Parts: sequence; C-alpha cells; structure tokens
Amino acid sequence: MGISRILIANRGEIALRIHRAAHEMGIETVAVHSTADTDAMHVRLADHAVCIGPPSATDSYLNTAAIISAAEIAQCDAIHPGYGFLSENEKFAEIVEAHDIAWIGPKPEHIRTMGDKVAAKRTAGALGLPLVPGSDGAVSDPEEAKKIADEIGYPVIIKAASGGGGRGMKVCEGPDTLASLMQAAANEAKSAFGDATVYLEKYLGDPRHIEFQVFGDGKGNAIHLGERDCSLQRRHQKVFEEAPSPVLSTEERNRMGDICAKAMADMGYRGAGTIEFLWENNEFYFIEMNTRLQVEHPVTEMITGVDLVREQIRVADGKPLSVKQSEIEFKGHAIECRINAEDPFTFAPSPGKVTSYHAAGGMHVRVDSGLYAGYSIPPYYDSMIAKLIVYGRNREGCIMRLRRALEEMVIEGVKTSIPLHRELIQQDDILNGDYSIKWLEEWLAKRE
Ligand code: ADP
Repeated sequence: MGISRILIANRGEIALRIHRAAHEMGIETVAVHSTADTDAMHVRLADHAVCIGPPSATDSYLNTAAIISAAEIAQCDAIHPGYGFLSENEKFAEIVEAHDIAWIGPKPEHIRTMGDKVAAKRTAGALGLPLVPGSDGAVSDPEEAKKIADEIGYPVIIKAASGGGGRGMKVCEGPDTLASLMQAAANEAKSAFGDATVYLEKYLGDPRHIEFQVFGDGKGNAIHLGERDCSLQRRHQKVFEEAPSPVLSTEERNRMGDICAKAMADMGYRGAGTIEFLWENNEFYFIEMNTRLQVEHPVTEMITGVDLVREQIRVADGKPLSVKQSEIEFKGHAIECRINAEDPFTFAPSPGKVTSYHAAGGMHVRVDSGLYAGYSIPPYYDSMIAKLIVYGRNREGCIMRLRRALEEMVIEGVKTSIPLHRELIQQDDILNGDYSIKWLEEWLAKRE
C-alpha cells in the first residue's frame, strides 16, 4: 500500500519543505494549523487543511489530541513532525504508532534515550563516540560536583539533562560559584523543561561546532552524509551554517563519519539524525544527538544531492535507504543563512505585515520560506521566516554567489537579519573560515 497522505504537524518553512517533498513523491498532504496560520503558504498549498486550535502552540502545534483527531478524520497514514514542537516527543511518536499511523521519525525508544543528554552521552560513549570530559551522569550534590570539577579542571559548564535550544547552561569559572550556579541551572531547567537534572562538562575554550548527518533504515543499515559546520552562533543558537566544514580534511570526515554511521547501524537507528560535536585542536567531542531533521539540513542536500525529507518518508514507509555509503559523493560547498524577523543587530523580534517580498534566484540559489507580499508574520512563534541556501563549486564561489543572492533578497515591512548576513559575509575571518563558536558574540560586542 504505502504512504499516500501525510499530516504535517508543523508550520512555517519546514511545513512547506515537507509538503514539497510529499508532492514530488505523489503523496497528498494535510496541513494542521492554528488560527494564526490560516493564511500560511503551506496551508494554501496542502491538499487539505484542518484548524486545530488557537495561536498558542500549547493549544495547537503541541496539542496531541487535536492532531491525532485531525489525522484520523482526514485519513492520514503518516505524520511528519518537522523540527521543534512534537518532533522529539517520544510519547507522541508512540501514540502515532499506536494509531497505526506511520511516524516519520526515529523509533520512540531512540528519541527517549537521546532526549536525555545524560543517557545520550552514556549511549554515545558505549557506541565508541569520543565524549567531552565531565561527570559520568547526573550530579546533584555540590560536594561531589566540586570533586569532579577539580578533576576535569575549570572552567566547567553545567548543563540540563533535558536541555535544548541553548537554554539551561551555566559556565562556572571556579569552585566558589559552583554550588550557586548548579542551583540556578537546576531551577532554570526545572521551569523550562520540567526536569531539574543537571550534569557537568569541561567548558571548551574555543571550539567549533561540527555535526554529522546520519541516516538509518531501522534494520541495522546506516550511512553518514558528511558534516555541517555550525560554529557561527549567538547565545548557543545557530545563525549561519556551511557544508563541508572549512577545517576538516577528507580523511577526518571519512573517519568520523564512519564512526557515526557504525554507531547508528549498531543501535538500529531509523530515519534522519544529527550527531553534534565540539571540535578543538583536531579532536571531536560528542555533545548531543538530535533525533529529527535539522533546520540546516539543506546544506547537506546541496553537497550530496540527497533529498533528506524524501529519504525520511521512504524509510518510514519500510523502504530501504536509496543510497549506499559508497555512492555518496561530496561535491562543492553550500552555505545557509537563517533569516529571522528581528532587528539585525539588537535581535528584538519584528513580527508584522510583509509589504513587499522578492526572493533571490538564479543558479544554485534556494530559498526555503513561506513568505509572500501581504503575509502577516504572527508574533507567537519562532522568528525564523526564511532560509537562504547557496551552492558553489568551491567555498569561494559559494561566498561570491551568497553575496549576490543577499543583494537580491527583499523583505520589507518588518526588520530582518539580512543586513547582518550582508555584513558578516564581508568579514575576513568568515571569508577565511577562521571562526569558532565564540566569534559572532565577540564580533557583535566589538561592533557596538
Ligand atoms: P542545546 O541542546 O541546548 O542546543 P548543546 O549541548 O547542543 O545544547 O550545546 C549548544 C551549544 O552550546 C554548542 O554548540 C556550544 O556552542 C555550546 N556548548 C555546549 N557544551 C559546551 C562545552 N562543553 N564547552 C563549550 N561550549 C559548549
């Protein structure tokens, strides 16, 4: 039989991205949306649309009962969760499967294990991935924490086991502040994630963030699709991503990629996943695994030619991976700019009506966005409104094309991060690929 109608349990550019992959496979789509998203592009394009609640995400995009009802009424045979919202909620994945609906995502038990960073680190270690030195599991006793911190050396970072989106992390410079920062991190984690569990890690001084895209068929076969460098960050949030990383050699890519793919094969992982590492002095340190499609997945698609959403749908349908590791070739260079509706330098949100819109185009330019002139960006959700992804035969060509594409992009009526990207692409360090996870914040501080 196979999947014939997918419910898209998300909004914005990713909902449109999923709709596009589905239609290219001849599969119908059902958009579920809040009252704030009635006029969204993907809602207009989907074959069917069901309103599932008021603007607040808790009552709509996180409302599992409403989403399952919509899936039943619209006779969907699969659900794609996108990223964020319910994508890493193993209970929702279980409910979906219990209703005989295909879950376009990893097995619920893998979502659970990797969603708890303490369990994830333990699993990653057992699978042979190199870890950031730190506590072996959760810590709650400040005295025990002091002993561990003494051993690994200051500074240390206190992280929430259930953390995400860069929240619930505290850097500690010495023993005097450890107990109070642990308490603060635990409180923050409790209110943000409902779980006060924290653990300790060595705080790396000046690393890069390099992550590997992996894909499994759930039956013991897995591949890697190379890495993405996401070192350009503000408040632990990615701003700009590229593939391949400007610092990794082919040998290193193959070595680390094979380790990641083998780990996924051993665990019987299903679907798309990202294994995140910090990279310093030529060493990789695992930090976490994301059991979903990532925002920055298009840069990988650009350099491999593999449609990751199509692959997700195929695997959820019980089909084998469409490519073998030996068939994956990394060609050229790709960069993605995240375009947010916000002030480019103060980062204050700027929702509202888009009065004019013109997307960049031309060879090797891709814009993933649901924007159109006259569309009102609702204030209730994430501020990312578009992704500009550009390909070049090499990094230099990619940057030249990105500069040209950024010149062409017009979004009026709201403030956007386009001016920030235009400025970033002029900086020598960016042109040279010479930046770490600290670079952007230091540059922004100097700029003031
Ligand atoms: P989240 O799930 O909240 O995104 P991560 O564990 O992925 O948290 O970390 C997000 C970012 O925080 C990393 O990309 C890096 O910039 C910073 N970070 C995390 N752990 C460390 C560490 N041990 N040392 C230095 N920076 C870190």
